[in-house]
Amino acid sequence: MFKSIRWKFITVYFALVFIAMAIIGVFIVQSFEAHNLDVVVNRLNSIADRIRPAIENISSEVSLEDEKDSLNNTLNLWAVGFFEEAFIVNRDFIIIATDNSHFQGINAASELDYGLILKVLNGEGEKVENDVSKGEKATKDIVYPIIRNGEIDAALYLRSDLKDVYETLNKSQKIMTQATVLALVITIILGYLLAKSITEPINDVTKKAALMAKGDFNQRVDVKSDDELGNLAEMFNFLTSKLETTLGEITSEKSKMETILNYMADGLIAVNKNGRIIHANPKAMEMLDFSKEMVLEKEYDELFEELNDKLTIRYVMKHNDILIGSDVININESIYNVDYAPFKDENDEIGGIVLVIKDVTKQQRLENMRREFVANVSHELKTPLTSIKSYTETLLNGMLDDRDISERFLGVVNSEADRMARLVRDLLQLSNFDNKKVKWNMVNNDLVKLVNQTVMKLHITAKNKNQKLEFINQNDELISYFDFDKMEQVVLNIISNAIKYTEENGKIDVYLESDSNRALIRVKDTGMGIPKEDLPRIFERFYRVDKARSRELGGTGLGLAIAKEIVEGHNGTIEIKSEINRGTEVIIEIPIAKKIV
Ligand code: ADP
Repeated sequence: MFKSIRWKFITVYFALVFIAMAIIGVFIVQSFEAHNLDVVVNRLNSIADRIRPAIENISSEVSLEDEKDSLNNTLNLWAVGFFEEAFIVNRDFIIIATDNSHFQGINAASELDYGLILKVLNGEGEKVENDVSKGEKATKDIVYPIIRNGEIDAALYLRSDLKDVYETLNKSQKIMTQATVLALVITIILGYLLAKSITEPINDVTKKAALMAKGDFNQRVDVKSDDELGNLAEMFNFLTSKLETTLGEITSEKSKMETILNYMADGLIAVNKNGRIIHANPKAMEMLDFSKEMVLEKEYDELFEELNDKLTIRYVMKHNDILIGSDVININESIYNVDYAPFKDENDEIGGIVLVIKDVTKQQRLENMRREFVANVSHELKTPLTSIKSYTETLLNGMLDDRDISERFLGVVNSEADRMARLVRDLLQLSNFDNKKVKWNMVNNDLVKLVNQTVMKLHITAKNKNQKLEFINQNDELISYFDFDKMEQVVLNIISNAIKYTEENGKIDVYLESDSNRALIRVKDTGMGIPKEDLPRIFERFYRVDKARSRELGGTGLGLAIAKEIVEGHNGTIEIKSEINRGTEVIIEIPIAKKIV
């Protein structure tokens, strides 16, 4: 409690006023006492000045003892005051005259200051004075010599009672004490109020600053004056509002940043140079299959050395001066590209590195597919070209004269050229699909007619293999809005495949079913089927289960890929169900849409 400014103020003010009042009091009382004593001395002197000549003028032949009555009268006459007493003491120390008859004739030593009288009678001074206090009584005593005939004959002893003087002095002291007490009380009250006016705003600021420290920035203090405290309050309010806006901005920036980091498509990890992960966004955790506990408990290097040793802080710090680089992480089927760069801390020194992780699996797969595609095309073209080249070379080397051989060889060249032409035609068609250059001839057409016509076209082919090709249909007609030629190409390809990949004596059923919204074309064979593991890739370009057999049967490996593009161009779907050695079913589903003409 006494540590507070309030109490310090009060104590200092109290001490100041007390000391001042004490000094003033002592000074006044002392001056007053000195002055009063001076007055007493002067009065006694003037009394002596009158009495002494009167006594000294008495004839020297007459002894003073004999003149005691006249002396008493003189003393009574001059020592008039209420407080003064006068005595004449002879050389035998007997009071021979006095204005107080009570002391007449007694030895002076019993009533008066013997030493003073002795000094005067011995001629030690013109006058000798002393303050005498006898019991309760305080007096001022002055002794003068009475000189007759050139000799000190007796002593005039004047005594003034100082009771009145000291009473007045006591009263003054009392007044001074009362004034001091009053002044001190007023000082305490004023000091308290003044200290309060200073400490209250300070306490207010302290209390509100404590609340601010706890995060509540909605704090304002009252500005009650325009002095230093008012300035402090104003400054505090300014600081609070500034802090509030700055913190608001920082918070909104932080939340913006957090939203960006949380929802960004790439993974992001920040590591300090001590190897601690200081931030990992949800995407990074998902990509790298990290849990929160792993990130909190384990060191970055511990987690990353299993993924790619070259991305550990240890390795990067040792081998990469600029701390900028990239590398790849493979997890299961996924491929991630990791770019890293350093970040600086508040001292503008390298604080660690930030890693941005991108899922490049798709690009990598596309890149692989592109490479595979180019290899496939080259390979598909190389086979017929090699055979054309070798047959023409043989012919040019002298076989032309043999007509039979020439015709056979030219037949092979022709069929190889056809094969190349087919391949190029299919590739061109796919390229048109890729580049969205396909022209769709969409009109209202009859699906029954389409399937029927296609089945008829392939009837002979099936018959040649002793296969039973049947069209199972309950509709007379099924009008929809589609590109007849392209859909015919699809159905032709699917039924051809069924014939191709079904042994002799097999059975192929073609179904056409519909409801109000969609049409289903199902081609079901009893052929060799497709292994389960090949089914997911069967619609890929050049994907063939048995390459040699497909090629032998004149296939390009592009038929199903083209069929898929065409069906999807009609907003339909195509799927294959198959069981090895049991048969295959291809299901085409297209929406029935009619164009109202
Ligand atoms: P291809 O020109 O080789 O027939 P496709 O794209 O039409 O090319 O077919 C791709 C592959 O799918 C074929 O090589 C074949 O292995 C398999 N396939 C397609 N249809 C059937 C079917 N009905 N029965 C068994 N395998 C089939």
